Amino acid sequence: MSNKRFAFALHGGAGARSGRDYSVAEYHMRDVTENARDRLASGARALDVVEYAVAQMESSGLYVAGRGSAPNSAGYVELDASIMDGPVSAAGAVSCIRDVVNPISVARRVMEATPHVMLSGAGALAFARAQGFEEVGEPKKYYTLPIGVNEDEIEDQAHGTVGAVALDTSGELAAATSTGGTFGKLEGRVGDTPIIGAGTWADSEIAISCTGTGEYFIRTGAALSVECRVRAGASLSRAIDEVLADVRHLGGDGGIIAVDSMGRVEMIYNSEGMKRASADSGDSVFVATFD
Ligand code: ASP
Repeated sequence: MSNKRFAFALHGGAGARSGRDYSVAEYHMRDVTENARDRLASGARALDVVEYAVAQMESSGLYVAGRGSAPNSAGYVELDASIMDGPVSAAGAVSCIRDVVNPISVARRVMEATPHVMLSGAGALAFARAQGFEEVGEPKKYYTLPIGVNEDEIEDQAHGTVGAVALDTSGELAAATSTGGTFGKLEGRVGDTPIIGAGTWADSEIAISCTGTGEYFIRTGAALSVECRVRAGASLSRAIDEVLADVRHLGGDGGIIAVDSMGRVEMIYNSEGMKRASADSGDSVFVATFD
């Protein structure tokens, strides 16, 4: 492995429920994480690696994002995603976009090819089409129930998300997050995932991706709140613990992954479980769903 420091972490959502078997998702997370590690070891940019990892998870159908997303209360899938490039504080997002294969890549294009941070709904889809992004074809055939979610939970706010954070060998940080949101959500509902500072954050010191019922992460300004606490002197783990405690205080739960400029990784949750994986310049890859 490389002599230069790098670090990577991903999550597959904090909606994991005890007693269920997530081994296929764990196998997939290991594969994506090994690939991400190898790319970082070869000098890839953090921004490219987080986009790659999230896109792989979106396309897999194993998580509540991209292919694994469920219809809203009006019967169709709406997707949210965001990405942030730490060194230049650039960000891009899409919300309530329909039927593109990789919303995270559309979010990146919003960042790189428009003066805006977020495009939403019909405008986001029109932009994706104009830019030539792949669409899902027939939604009914494309979308699939992700592993660990039962049919009877579609109405009860079951949720999941995917996200990734990375530090590359140039010392640059990036974060990306993508979701199908909460099952049975109202048409037009936007969670924390596409909101910079709530579901996603990256700057020159830290990269953060959140998962959990998004309303609580918006109300606590979760991702930026972690950053502010670290900037004020808290350790990464303490900052995340405090923000998750705030989320809990409001009635929610979830998880947060983060990496800092020293390559320290934290993956902390206060829900039943969080699918997650990490790797750094050593050889081993960590993968888990529960404690
Ligand atoms: N945060 C996502 C949302 O509220 C869901 C999740 O992370 O499980 O849309």
